[in-house]
Amino acid sequence: MAEEKEEVKTFKELGICEQLLEACETLGWKNPTKIQVEAIPHALEGKDMIGLAQTGSGKTGAFALPILQALLDSPQAFFTCVLSPTRELAIQIAEQFEALGCGIGVRCAVLVGGVDMVQQAIALAKRPHIVVGTPGRLLDHLSNTKGFSLRMLKYLVLDEADRLLNEDFEKSIDEILNAIPRERRTYLFSATMTKKVKKLQRACLRNPVKIEAASKYSTVDTLKQQYRFVPAKYKSKRLGALNKFKARECNILICTDVASRGLDIPAVDMVINYDIPSSSKDYIHRVGRTARAGRSGVAISLVNQYELEWYIQIEKLIGKKLPEFPAQEEEVLLLLERVTEAKRISQMKIKEGGSKRRRKAGGDDGEEEIERYLGNKNGKKSKKLKR
Ligand code: AMP
Repeated sequence: MAEEKEEVKTFKELGICEQLLEACETLGWKNPTKIQVEAIPHALEGKDMIGLAQTGSGKTGAFALPILQALLDSPQAFFTCVLSPTRELAIQIAEQFEALGCGIGVRCAVLVGGVDMVQQAIALAKRPHIVVGTPGRLLDHLSNTKGFSLRMLKYLVLDEADRLLNEDFEKSIDEILNAIPRERRTYLFSATMTKKVKKLQRACLRNPVKIEAASKYSTVDTLKQQYRFVPAKYKSKRLGALNKFKARECNILICTDVASRGLDIPAVDMVINYDIPSSSKDYIHRVGRTARAGRSGVAISLVNQYELEWYIQIEKLIGKKLPEFPAQEEEVLLLLERVTEAKRISQMKIKEGGSKRRRKAGGDDGEEEIERYLGNKNGKKSKKLKR
């Protein structure tokens, strides 16, 4: 039976104009992501949209490209306002607008807290096409910056709407909605569909098309993911060596930073994240070694007090809160003693082996010997392994 091939669409087929195609090419965006394929044609038809998509899915491009295309058709200042719950996200959104729109001379202003109001007022005086901001600061400018108004606005985007809807923002958003024209296009993006998001949708959007695209960074349902909090003092170093560890019939992959990407490791039954990668996408790559092709798998992440922030980012990216791996602390601590002892003995043996060979060949020191044991077959010093 012939394998069914998924049709790959191009930006051109979605209706993106020549200038913006060039911008996509410059950014290295070869093909649209799933959310872009779903969203762009509707947006170009002038529909309101509600999109369920997470950061990492390409959602910024999904709304920025059609907005820029509409701006090219009828250029004007204060064309679009994008509301974001955080400064970082606002800056990222503005950067994508600028990158996509640099060939057509797009001007953006970012209005976020913690930055000088006067600088932002100067940026507003230049009459930007796109204003990206957090609700509080944007409202502050609407009330206090002379000459700034959004009465001519054509597009409103509410990004990460589920996070925009906490109590701090609700009032500001209401006031912003009162200060912009009703006759406009509205796009609402959210990772989850909560009651509050539905309420906001009813208040802001007109007959929206609903689009949904699982993030390319989601994990499969056959993967059982858990975490365990382990204080930093109980972790030993250089566990990369255990990548080759085989427990009875079950292959276990123990990951540190060296094992996240690019290594050609066969599928395994269990992945243990011995440390938490600072890049959430690396987590997806690591756990993707198991539960492949519809099979089941387990991933357990050991989190210490310094890695909590990264771990929270991972849960955000995969859109799930993971359950805790149940463990009996006393039993574990007992085992720890045995592991520490075994490790001490094995390190001694590696060192002894190293000095014997060194005496024979007049070469390496013990440190290099360990590095070679950890997988650097050429015996070259690997900076990555020293963390
Ligand atoms: P976002 O989900 O909008 O935060 O985008 C996540 C990342 O994907 C950003 O770094 C974008 O530059 C990138 N990106 C967006 N669309 C594409 C695409 N079609 N091809 C490659 N990368 C993309």
